[in-house]
Amino acid sequence: MSPEKREEDLEASIRPLTLADFTGQEAARKNLKVFIEAAKARKDALDHVLFVGPPGLGKTTLAQIVARELGVNFRSTSGPVIAKAGDLAAQLTNLEERDVLFIDEIHRLNPSVEEILYPAMEDFQLDLIIGEGPAARSVKIDLARFTLVGATTRAGLLTTPLRDRFGIPIRMNFYTVEELESIVARGARVMKCPMNFEGANEIARRSRGTPRIAGRLLRRVRDFALVDGDAMVTRQVADHALKLLDVDSIGLDEMDRRYLNMVAVNFGGGPVGIETIAAALSEPRDAIEDIIEPYLLQQGFLNRTPRGRMLTPRAFSHLGLAAPEQAQP
Ligand code: ADP
Repeated sequence: MSPEKREEDLEASIRPLTLADFTGQEAARKNLKVFIEAAKARKDALDHVLFVGPPGLGKTTLAQIVARELGVNFRSTSGPVIAKAGDLAAQLTNLEERDVLFIDEIHRLNPSVEEILYPAMEDFQLDLIIGEGPAARSVKIDLARFTLVGATTRAGLLTTPLRDRFGIPIRMNFYTVEELESIVARGARVMKCPMNFEGANEIARRSRGTPRIAGRLLRRVRDFALVDGDAMVTRQVADHALKLLDVDSIGLDEMDRRYLNMVAVNFGGGPVGIETIAAALSEPRDAIEDIIEPYLLQQGFLNRTPRGRMLTPRAFSHLGLAAPEQAQP
């Protein structure tokens, strides 16, 4: 088996399969449970669901769980993959009653594709134009009553007509350290990696509130522990490995620190516009807004003001720098 294959299998074996197994996102889980039970009782498709939140928080995993709990097929695609209206039409006509169609990065659908989604979501109908010029005519095709599950990093990226067609919008939040501890401990058990509570806590504290990162750090820590011949992942073993991986004491990675240092040193802590930050870091604006900033905002390192991004005194103190006057609250 190739290393990638093994990594995928491992990831699949750690992935929770039921709502009861899914740690965290309490509100989302409670709501979904009610709506899924109601849909099953009505013998109808679940209303369309939109998951909103930063990458790696479990949107895809929850979408799979929704299909499994409903007892229906799970079909999956993503916004950038659907190039033409016909590609989406093919997917939609293949669905059976109450199936789940998952569209990741749904904000990246091309507008002509998005348009055929509206009647599909609302009336379970496809409106297609066949032919060109005067011979063109429109045909309506009935679809199975399906559930669209969309995932996006920010709700504001969706057009209003698309956003309005989701009956069940769900915000995903960063996970608490306790929730990540239990995810890490479960992963360690599946991998048969001996770990004590402090070891799990150290990885959880430094996972940026994100299960995907927790899983990745867990696998790397286990590798270090194996190679160093440590039987048990303790706090010391985890700390040693995470330092080598360039993950700092509160879980910020190299990109987070580049961002903070740049705003602190080059822009005196801000306010500075997002476009300027993107140019200075040579990173796409989307990646900065989707991946880096949400966690820094949540940790209270950053404020968004009408004049731009501003670091807080907490950020300066983490960087070991003196905060300038305007960064004071
Ligand atoms: P997203 O679609 O939001 O980017 P994924 O659903 O792909 O995130 O999850 C990323 C990884 O984190 C997967 O390996 C998944 O198994 C794991 N994961 C996500 N949420 C949880 C959770 N609540 N409990 C355990 N593992 C989780």
